[in-house]
Amino acid sequence: METIETVQCLIIGSGPAGYTAAIYASRAGLKPVLYQGLQPGGQLTITTEVENYPGYPDGIQGPEMMVGFEKQAARMGADIRYGLATKVDFTGPIHKVQIDEDKWIAAHTVIISTGASAKWLGLESEQRLNGFGVSACAVCDGFFFKGKVVAIVGAGDTAAEEALYLSKICAQVHMIVRRGEMRASKVMQARVISTPNITIHWNSETEEILGDAKVEGVRLFNNKTSEKTEISVSAFFVAIGHSPNSAIFNDWITMDNTGYILTTPGTSRTNIPGVFAAGDVQDKTYRQAVTAAGSGCMAALDAERYLSALAVH
Ligand code: NDP
Repeated sequence: METIETVQCLIIGSGPAGYTAAIYASRAGLKPVLYQGLQPGGQLTITTEVENYPGYPDGIQGPEMMVGFEKQAARMGADIRYGLATKVDFTGPIHKVQIDEDKWIAAHTVIISTGASAKWLGLESEQRLNGFGVSACAVCDGFFFKGKVVAIVGAGDTAAEEALYLSKICAQVHMIVRRGEMRASKVMQARVISTPNITIHWNSETEEILGDAKVEGVRLFNNKTSEKTEISVSAFFVAIGHSPNSAIFNDWITMDNTGYILTTPGTSRTNIPGVFAAGDVQDKTYRQAVTAAGSGCMAALDAERYLSALAVH
């Protein structure tokens, strides 16, 4: 295939990992080109307050933080572009990445920082009513259900955080938890449990989301008592975790059985020389903005060392 340009360092993705890699790679003189992907700024652009990123003693809004990341990367000289990586060819030695199913770019090093996306339950009704009351982002869509009764499924920190967010906007929040306990951190659990307008349905699975043209209710199945109950809700939020955005690398990059990219421990190196991975696409354990940023820094340093060894720059 014909490539339109050759770059030293191509960064795919624009969350904390991608932008941090861009900051470091720019400062190292690698003239990185960064493609932002479908959701410029990544998952933090659909969150509210970030309280645990060091350096912000009063917290910061996620979208605002990502604007800061982008500005810093641009100020250091990164070439930040709209566009989605749609295919790769890592036959080497120079790597090729297709953008927007159209043009191909050649790169001596590639940093994969494509992050992760929300998981869905897999129900037919969930798919059918997506956008009509079914959503995987309470912060984006909660406002449309101001004063209404809504449901949220999940029991991790995301579900807890989103349930609390919804409780401030909506009349009542039904939280659907499939086990008899939550996975969320103790502090988040305590906040959820002590919020009067959040009702937790323990040991409950979502059997069906009810409604023809829009969400009108949900049918739950209690896996302890086998009892089925229907509750009326106007919206159904899904907050059951994420899966890595790694599909386009399947044929080239070694991954675990859930699609997370495997890196050599203590580095960002993948099985392909010159291809590095950073952030949530390779981290199923920590998944924090600060760990993603740290691994983006590692990837840029690894890319710089790789190029120095090749004497490309
Ligand atoms: P998690 O993987 O931590 O939790 C997913 C939750 O969804 C679990 O409770 C799981 O249940 C439940 N679940 C999964 N599949 C289904 C299903 N089919 N039906 C019903 N429930 C299901 O994901 P999160 O997105 O919550 O968090 C990801 C990471 O990000 C974590 O490390 C978390 O700590 C972190 N995080 C931190 C925040 C903070 O510090 N402020 C905020 C948000 C996230 P089960 O428990 O039964 O497996």
